[in-house]
Amino acid sequence: MDFKKAIEASMQPLTEDIAALCRINSVEGEAKPGMPFGEGVAQALETALKMGADMGFRTENFDNYVGHIEMGEGEELVGILGHVDVVPAGEGWNTDPWGGVITDGKIIGRGVLDDKGPVLTCLYAMKILKELNVPLSKRVRIILGTNEETDWKCMNYYLNEVKPELPTMAFSPDSEFPLTYAELGLLQFTLTRKISETIEIEGGNAFNSVPSSAKIALPAEMKPALETAVAAAEDASIYTITEEDGKVVLKVKGVGAHAAHLQEGKNAISYMMDVLGRMPLTGELKEIVDFYNEHFGLCLYGEKMGIACSDEDCGPLTLNVGMVKAENGKFTFCCDSRVPVSFQPADVIAKLEAKAAQTGYDYETHSTERPLYVPRDSKLVTTLMDAYRKVTGDTESQPQSSGGATYSRTMENCVAFGCLLPGQEDTMHMANEYLEIDKLKIWLEIMLEAIYQLAK
Ligand SMILES: [Zn+2]
Repeated sequence: MDFKKAIEASMQPLTEDIAALCRINSVEGEAKPGMPFGEGVAQALETALKMGADMGFRTENFDNYVGHIEMGEGEELVGILGHVDVVPAGEGWNTDPWGGVITDGKIIGRGVLDDKGPVLTCLYAMKILKELNVPLSKRVRIILGTNEETDWKCMNYYLNEVKPELPTMAFSPDSEFPLTYAELGLLQFTLTRKISETIEIEGGNAFNSVPSSAKIALPAEMKPALETAVAAAEDASIYTITEEDGKVVLKVKGVGAHAAHLQEGKNAISYMMDVLGRMPLTGELKEIVDFYNEHFGLCLYGEKMGIACSDEDCGPLTLNVGMVKAENGKFTFCCDSRVPVSFQPADVIAKLEAKAAQTGYDYETHSTERPLYVPRDSKLVTTLMDAYRKVTGDTESQPQSSGGATYSRTMENCVAFGCLLPGQEDTMHMANEYLEIDKLKIWLEIMLEAIYQLAK
């Protein structure tokens, strides 16, 4: 099939539709009747569905949780899983984040990369297949989520309440090219113990982030011991000692990172505990610090907790302490572990429960996400890789595994495919999120080839 002309003709309307969809602020908002994630999200979903309907596709809106756009005939269904909600704009933009600005060969706006641009690229690929009357043996359905950036309540609703026909193969264009065939299982949990002492400690604010700062207040007379302990640290420059309200306060500056790639961070809580471990502490604080250094320490892969494991596809399990809390008579560690696909989160949980029981902590699972794994030699992976290689000529890049989580893990036989190209700047979730129109054209070429090869 030669799609060149149709691609040329599609570039301008595609560019304009992406900009138009990005002009709708679809950050999760206050729920309203019939709009579980707020007005903006519902409006973005309705707009995307209308774009599909105007192209002559069947569309359906499931109570503003999820919508889908379907083309073609045939028994089998090919799925494309994306989302129309976005993260907040944040600070630092040079243009209006909701302006859908087209300038200098770029579209600029919150959501152009994540995930409005990729979703509409797939829709335009379907439009071209329809207009050219390309014979296909399967139906193709874009499934549009509306709560991906926060709680995935949209996909839960779709799978558990709507209970739709499921695709036999699917991809999620919400990551990068070429393809992610394995995503580690996710296990977030807490370890909690009772305390009767007052412990003035702060560190982190989410399970899934490496904390960039931590602090603790200690009795003023501990200042000399604290200075000695800091001086013995591997890098004393990350610590500051001050006096506040008759106490001595230790502040630690770490490096924040997503728990999916915790190697890029430096856990401020761990480095705080490292210093505290060299202090003449007593009582419950000493017990907590000793527990930390014995079971978490500075290591990243759960070695000290006794849960380390690794496999060829994913590399090692990771363990991040994202947050500590001392309140209401309890001390809590909030943790995030990414589990390689060859291992079961349930086995990791069993080990953690045993360890908790031995050490006087209560273990509780906060959340789990099952892993994604589709073999590299499966028809889905080889077909998508062939489409990518045919269009880009890039035979170097290989299918990858990832600690991150995309919608692809919500369904069987689904992988993450696109849309960031190798070397394309990743501004997802950042200020000045932008998409170059020449990159967009490559996206459209790849998606057209991919959807055609899957559905033909
Ligand atoms: Zn996304």
